[in-house]
Amino acid sequence: MSSGPPNKRPRTDSGPTPLKSQLTRDVEFWFSDGSIILIAGNTLFRVYHGVLAAHSVVFHDMLQFPHPPSSPSLDGCPTLDLSDSPADLRHLLRVLYPKPATRFMRRSADAPVKFEHVSAIVRLSHKYQMDAILKDTMSYLTEYYSNYYHEWLARDKKPLQVKPLQCIEAVALAHLTGTNTILPTALLECAMSDGECLFKGYAREDGTVVMLSSDDIQRCFLGYRELKDLDAISIRTVARIVGEGEMRTGCVQPYTCRMVMHAFWGMVHSSATTDGDVLRPWAELLDKYKAPGDVGFCGACLAVLRGYPSLVSGRAGTWYKLPQIFGVVVPQWNAIS
Ligand SMILES: [Zn+2]
Repeated sequence: MSSGPPNKRPRTDSGPTPLKSQLTRDVEFWFSDGSIILIAGNTLFRVYHGVLAAHSVVFHDMLQFPHPPSSPSLDGCPTLDLSDSPADLRHLLRVLYPKPATRFMRRSADAPVKFEHVSAIVRLSHKYQMDAILKDTMSYLTEYYSNYYHEWLARDKKPLQVKPLQCIEAVALAHLTGTNTILPTALLECAMSDGECLFKGYAREDGTVVMLSSDDIQRCFLGYRELKDLDAISIRTVARIVGEGEMRTGCVQPYTCRMVMHAFWGMVHSSATTDGDVLRPWAELLDKYKAPGDVGFCGACLAVLRGYPSLVSGRAGTWYKLPQIFGVVVPQWNAIS
């Protein structure tokens, strides 16, 4: 068995080959009886090739023939160079070879899942044709970047934990996998992000920077302008309601309710300049606005205000137009009710 320097290892992609002295064993994935060593960057992962082949068409095809004695190996174990980052590969291996400490915690229905984990698994399972894993992992993205209005409004209760600018990666994953249902809301988040940061892109754990394409940047700028126009119309509608006396019909605390209405109007008006959640119905916020002394609208005023369709569902109209606003075709959007 050869244990010489792995300077002629087969690679799944081009890239510099590290010297043997630079290679280090991964702390998390080094099974002493593993049957293959994967090399990603300078890190060695000793795992079981049968498991890789069972999940992946690509690995199955690569590993279906017996390992010739002349092939590269380390310490008697065949090696395979991968062009992936160690961090990405580690995420995938956590799915393929779950440890006892993680097996019993993962996938309890609503357990939080980091975006980085989902992103890495989607990219690698797509690359290595691990269809079942890809489908399962994509469900985190389609649940968060939902094509259902009320699901989108409740996205902060979803298992997927998304940080600012990870929407850029979400757009990239939508393109990679041809999942257009993700695009309208992922582009919406991009459009509402800080413009300067958007141009700098999103940096993954391994330092790789993901950028929007020029087409997607254009979609964000045009979409942002249209969203602000639609929001201005919505705000003018609220202004008319604020100015109407009808809300005071039956009011038991006219002075206080006027104060609360001022606070509510201040929120509506400020959202025009703070890029708040442009799809959230105004009525969801009615309970939050208080007059001094922490007093809110009286029941009669709340009932009147909740009777205004433009407060309850006015922004849903923007939701229905979202694919069109961002210039993407999503037939499934029509099924939303
Ligand atoms: Zn009142």
